[in-house]
Amino acid sequence: MFARLDKGYKSLVRYLAIFAVWIFSAPSFAQLAEESMTPRKISLEYFRGLVLEENLNLDLPSIPKTSADLQKRAGELTDRWRGFANNITNNNLANVHELVRLVDEFNADLIFQLGPFYVAHDLLANTAQKKTISLELNRIWDFIIEEYYGNARIFRALRHIEVDFELLDEQERAVIRAEIQKFRFYHREFDEEDDDNDEEEAKRVLILSQSLEKLETQFSNNIDHSTAHLYLTKEELDGVPEDFLNQLTKKKDKFKLEIQQWYHYDTLMRTARRSKTRKTVMRARFDIASEANSDIFNSILEIRQTLAESNDQKHYLDWALQDELLPNSSKLDAFLSAGEKGNRTAFLAERRVLQAQLSKRLGDKKTPAKLEAWDVAYEIEKKREAILGNSFENLEEYFPLDRVLRGMFDYFEKYFGLQFEEIPDMAWWDPSVRTFLMREKATGKIKGVQILDPFPRPNKERWFWSLTLQARLKRLTGQVDLPVNLISGNWTPPKPGQIAFISPGEDLATLCHEWGHGVNDIGTGVDKASISGMRTSDDFVETPSNFFEALARDPEFLQMVSGHYQTNEPLDRETAQKLSKALEFGLAHARQDKLTKSRIDFALHGKRARKESQHERGVGLQTPDEIDRKIRKRMYYAMPEGAFPLSSFSHIATDYAGLFWTYYLGEVASAKMKALGKRSPDGTFSAAVGQRLIERAFAVGGGIKTSRILHAVFGRNFNACSAALRLSAPTKVARTRKDDGKPSPQTKGL
Ligand SMILES: [Zn+2]
Repeated sequence: MFARLDKGYKSLVRYLAIFAVWIFSAPSFAQLAEESMTPRKISLEYFRGLVLEENLNLDLPSIPKTSADLQKRAGELTDRWRGFANNITNNNLANVHELVRLVDEFNADLIFQLGPFYVAHDLLANTAQKKTISLELNRIWDFIIEEYYGNARIFRALRHIEVDFELLDEQERAVIRAEIQKFRFYHREFDEEDDDNDEEEAKRVLILSQSLEKLETQFSNNIDHSTAHLYLTKEELDGVPEDFLNQLTKKKDKFKLEIQQWYHYDTLMRTARRSKTRKTVMRARFDIASEANSDIFNSILEIRQTLAESNDQKHYLDWALQDELLPNSSKLDAFLSAGEKGNRTAFLAERRVLQAQLSKRLGDKKTPAKLEAWDVAYEIEKKREAILGNSFENLEEYFPLDRVLRGMFDYFEKYFGLQFEEIPDMAWWDPSVRTFLMREKATGKIKGVQILDPFPRPNKERWFWSLTLQARLKRLTGQVDLPVNLISGNWTPPKPGQIAFISPGEDLATLCHEWGHGVNDIGTGVDKASISGMRTSDDFVETPSNFFEALARDPEFLQMVSGHYQTNEPLDRETAQKLSKALEFGLAHARQDKLTKSRIDFALHGKRARKESQHERGVGLQTPDEIDRKIRKRMYYAMPEGAFPLSSFSHIATDYAGLFWTYYLGEVASAKMKALGKRSPDGTFSAAVGQRLIERAFAVGGGIKTSRILHAVFGRNFNACSAALRLSAPTKVARTRKDDGKPSPQTKGL
């Protein structure tokens, strides 16, 4: 959730990839062995030695296993956090530095203690256990909100520090700024002169925030616990890969599809030949939890609006945007409009290509076929295969997971000065979970630990995300808590006794995206837990991940991470270029989809606030679903009847409210960053860009405005609108630069 620590713990530590894919086809090949085809390894013993030597603290999280364990732990935690709250408010603090330290240690503790609850909930628990964990988590968050965030005395103490700001160093100030942002959600703007009146109002705001909290949790639980089963015949599933079908359960002659699972949905949408099947599947997917959630969503919007009004804001959007790069709704409006304008030509061009392809298949070349929402993924896949002259599955033998990781690590070493090594003997919750150490190449110093839980399991959530298990923090003793990040994914598992492969399309893009979050998290140079790692400004979070995601479409990167499982022969240049071109197709659609969702978000949290005047004028208020349908139809593709995407999608209703556009911003910023690299003498990539990201973004962390980070990275004010406007022609720009060998005037000083 935006700028909150509550379930918004997620906002601090957990970021989803929205374009996640799962393909169910592992070729049956032998085991990889060659040293150059796998990540370099170090022993657990050696690793422990390094940790000791560098005075690092590495508390590995222990995962609660039983309900009793959960409850006991929850009780201990609340006692401990009450202690923190008391310490912060008591007047015996020696100085302001101590207050900052306590606040920061509280945040470090929160991240470290709650991580295991989320691991248990998302990766391990069955449905019944998930309910128990949710209950305990709700109880914990209620406590934290009431006794910490709801505590006006702590809020006041934080506000009063501003008086002594000059006594604090840069990072301490950033901690306070970031913390005040979080408290903002539970208090009316603090007004010194109006202290008494504030009490009543503060209580009201707190109660509203807590009910909002509960509704948001309820909303995502409704989605998580819903199922959407379809039973389809072999004929209806024409075109769907055999490997995938073979893994499904059957009832008589019908296959059981679990549409709530992303990889079931995605595989069908891309491969099922029959349009009617895809329509049925899409409707089933977007009907998940729709009944239960549509009222809840309405209430969520109402409360958000009321909270914004309590803080003298016209609508929630403006309230949520304070302190962001686009600080109010008109700035965001301009940014989205620029994005729409910039993407329009490319989007329509792609659409015409898809329509022509469909017409041709239908045997009518003259009339452009009508393209429906449920045709898009399928037609894009077909077009990509046509460009590639092959299927993505057929190229998988060049992308064994271990070879891809090795290639990624070589890339990070060369361009970021970061080295990854695998520690093979760590015992986690599942034997498939892997651990990697990240070190600074120049000094050999440990930066952090990356854990990768790559494959689906029966109770594991079907998304791809990144979670902080321990945030970097330098203690008073000088000891440093080593940052630990977990990436949880659902990539194609290997068949028994064989190796895993990564499909060189969305799967590889998702791996790069999540690894980007991971590198941001453990590559941090910040010594305060509240602002280290991924705890950047909310609107910067998706920039590093988008930067790395774009690599997955780069021909040179594709060659770097590929190696045939038998020969370690990389993809030849021509195939890599074709693959890159194939993957570039559909990007304008992906952008249009992001822009559409951003617009929906914008409309729900902005314009809707005018409802009262609308009521006065006798104009009925549109429901969120109506707004959603209308915008989709206008900007992208109309949804099938009976589909309610808003109610079955937790992003806008929960974690990232009012900030969906950060994905788009991330894409815009990362495209500029990539262009920056292209200009350097060493070809496609540039160590200078890596260095800039590390020194100017990862090193400053949170509490710093995104505008300042982008300014530091690009060397001048970052103009989001003009960057968005230009985004759709990246290849052309790049070519010009390469040809004349020096920066073109329009991009000078990027
Ligand atoms: Zn992300």
